[in-house]
Amino acid sequence: MNTTAYHKILEELRPANVQLLAVSKTRTPEEIIELYNLGQRDFGENYVQELAEKHSSLPDDIRWHFIGHLQSNKVKYIAPFVYMIQGVDSEKLIMEIDRQAGKNNRQVRCLLQVHVAKEETKFGFSEKELMDLAGFVSGLRLANQIKQVELAGVMGMASLTDNNEQIRNEFKYLKGLFDRIKSELPGDPFDTLSMGMSGDYQIAIEEGSTMIRIGTLLFGERK
Ligand SMILES: *Cc1c(COP(=O)(O)O)cnc(C)c1O
Repeated sequence: MNTTAYHKILEELRPANVQLLAVSKTRTPEEIIELYNLGQRDFGENYVQELAEKHSSLPDDIRWHFIGHLQSNKVKYIAPFVYMIQGVDSEKLIMEIDRQAGKNNRQVRCLLQVHVAKEETKFGFSEKELMDLAGFVSGLRLANQIKQVELAGVMGMASLTDNNEQIRNEFKYLKGLFDRIKSELPGDPFDTLSMGMSGDYQIAIEEGSTMIRIGTLLFGERK
């Protein structure tokens, strides 16, 4: 764990009031506790089983974020404790999160995942589909048919490239979509734009990110 990097990143975030999500996938509970002891409380994982195991062995006041592709049939394993699900991209998934969160009598914050990076074709969907999904949730919310899901914003990833202009344009696109959905969504606290990782977080902050997701800079290269 790199204490110097942690404090440097926090310094950079402070003026822009951006949140830091520490991405702890593949890291040991001991590594996570080191960062926890410095005051970090938001951690992100992208495998359901790994997340459930870490949750059960680590302090209760950690806010766990799921940041990967979540299958509907696995929602039940994380619904009892997950704070935020970053990356919902279907009506089916949202309905299942609402159902499982209801069983546990909790609210779960969700971010709509926007696929802009050129690597992400597999789960990709268009702007129109995204607006439709936001409208779908909003409609159910107003009809009181969705009670436990809070649509809290948008998450996205830029392409893996050295071309900073391309990265910047992808972040600009995400910010534009975020603003548009926010203006069309009454009733939900649409306040989180999760974009920026170890290699591109400075550009993301310049383009309006409210939450960066950092693994490598804090914990070193993943094996
Ligand atoms: C792994 C991961 C990160 C962190 O990436 P680093 O380059 O290690 O900072 C951020 N977001 C998502 C969705 C990830 O899967």
